[in-house]
Amino acid sequence: MKRSYKFLWYLVSFMFITSCAQQSETDKTIHEITEESSEDNKFAIVIHGGAGYRNPATNGPEDELYKEHLYRVVHHGEQMLKEGAKAVDVVEACIRLLEDDSLFNAGLGAVLNAQGKAELDASIMNGADRNAGAVAGVHTTRHPISAARMVMDSSKHVFLSGDGADTYMSQMGLEQVEPEFFITGKRRAWWNEQLKKREKDENPDNKHGTVGCAVLDRSGHLAAGTSTGGMSNKQWGRIGDSPVIGAGTYADDKSCAVSCTGHGEYFIRNAVAYQIAARMQFGGEQLDSAVHNVLFKVLNEKAGSGGVIAVDKDGNISMQHNTPMMFRAWATDVEEGVLIYE
Ligand code: ASP
Repeated sequence: MKRSYKFLWYLVSFMFITSCAQQSETDKTIHEITEESSEDNKFAIVIHGGAGYRNPATNGPEDELYKEHLYRVVHHGEQMLKEGAKAVDVVEACIRLLEDDSLFNAGLGAVLNAQGKAELDASIMNGADRNAGAVAGVHTTRHPISAARMVMDSSKHVFLSGDGADTYMSQMGLEQVEPEFFITGKRRAWWNEQLKKREKDENPDNKHGTVGCAVLDRSGHLAAGTSTGGMSNKQWGRIGDSPVIGAGTYADDKSCAVSCTGHGEYFIRNAVAYQIAARMQFGGEQLDSAVHNVLFKVLNEKAGSGGVIAVDKDGNISMQHNTPMMFRAWATDVEEGVLIYE
């Protein structure tokens, strides 16, 4: 009798263990299916390196270099997205790379203000919760986009400026450099050149540059960021649109993520990044037509020259400029590319 109880006990235990093993196999399968279906989800990334005026005939070889650098950055973002990274992390990572690239007007290689100094602005926005961070006029924080992220994630504020911003970043452990770190020989030479003929060159349309990134991640979240040295020879203390949430940068999961570049004063006055999102959310416009209408009807090449990159919640991309060119690159789950003049 005792023996048959023992046998029954073994039998029940065996069945229990087998069913647990099957259960965990089922869990694993469910997990894998979830991962697979998230791998099927759309992603999209678009970056820009500024819009403006450039002659393709004289800049041919340098253009190839720009394209290579843009491609490297967008490819990095694409890899991160394939691995499941969050949109806001991809935006920060890609803009850090662009800030480290002296070809572009942001971070290292930024243009100089009227005092001959680099004064840096940046902003970032997370579409999932519409949290945002920005810095303006920083001089010693190596990566202004990470400073903007620090404001968003770790402070009670949205916007910090000048010495207060740099001091906060240094206290928070962000890398600090000497203000001269950002100034390359090419920018100094150009500034000296401008100094000689400054009276003749008050046209702000000759002074464009900025970098930006807009992303849809595989979880359906949007984010955007922008970083710049601003417009060259700017009055010191001048703040453009790039660090102004709603002007140079905006992201909302309900509509789209936007990063702008161009004559900042017009982009601020017309709340360009927010206006594009609002046209979609409240006016039912599609991404491409919202961007087009703002760049060509609200703004134009004379009053508000520049460009916009944007991604919507369905993975559509828009990259338009009312200037002759805009450095830009994009990647989605189905295509990728780099363009300058088109
Ligand atoms: N929007 C920037 C500013 O006004 C400059 C640019 O993007 O070209 O500071």
